[in-house]
Amino acid sequence: MHIILLGPPGVGKGTQAKLLAQKLGVVHLSTGEILRKAVEDATQLGLQARNIIESGSLVPDDIMIGLIKEVLSQNNITGKGFILDGFPRTLQQALALEELFKELNITSVTVVNIVANEEELVKRMLNRGRKDDTSETVKHRLRIFKDLTAPVTDYYRKKHKIFDIFGVGDIEEINSGILKILSKK
Ligand code: AMP
Repeated sequence: MHIILLGPPGVGKGTQAKLLAQKLGVVHLSTGEILRKAVEDATQLGLQARNIIESGSLVPDDIMIGLIKEVLSQNNITGKGFILDGFPRTLQQALALEELFKELNITSVTVVNIVANEEELVKRMLNRGRKDDTSETVKHRLRIFKDLTAPVTDYYRKKHKIFDIFGVGDIEEINSGILKILSKK
């Protein structure tokens, strides 16, 4: 099973992706987590990305596309199935991903879009205490989401079927809602 999880920052993509990965036995691929680990390990990628992440901006497309190609090209991952969390975040990333899926013979992908109101997103981000979650960067990330990432949702809406789910409420209930969507399609 191949799933793309879309939604604004703070909507709970990471939490839901982790639960889904456990329940479905697929690999959870969070580009944010990969980048944070790279920063922690001070790899070349981490050094390139550190200031960008802390400012709440996006890491350049060429770096992110290179990274996702490397990760998805590992056999065991596509074979097992995966949940993409945090990628694609720009139209260019979405187009590159489409190409990559063709190369890897991945024909069936389910796109799930988690939604919430902005007030809730701000509250959650400020509560999670991540280094890139100050009130300034939170505002910046929501702006970037509207400008660069919302077009990705529109792209999938036109091209694929996309399933919207409301992301405010009990975590397990929201998760059951997503599992129901996945089982029906
Ligand atoms: P996340 O954990 O998904 O909120 O990602 C944390 C940060 O990592 C983002 O604010 C970006 O700076 C960076 N990042 C993660 N995924 C991407 C992506 N697909 N494209 C560009 N930057 C990304």
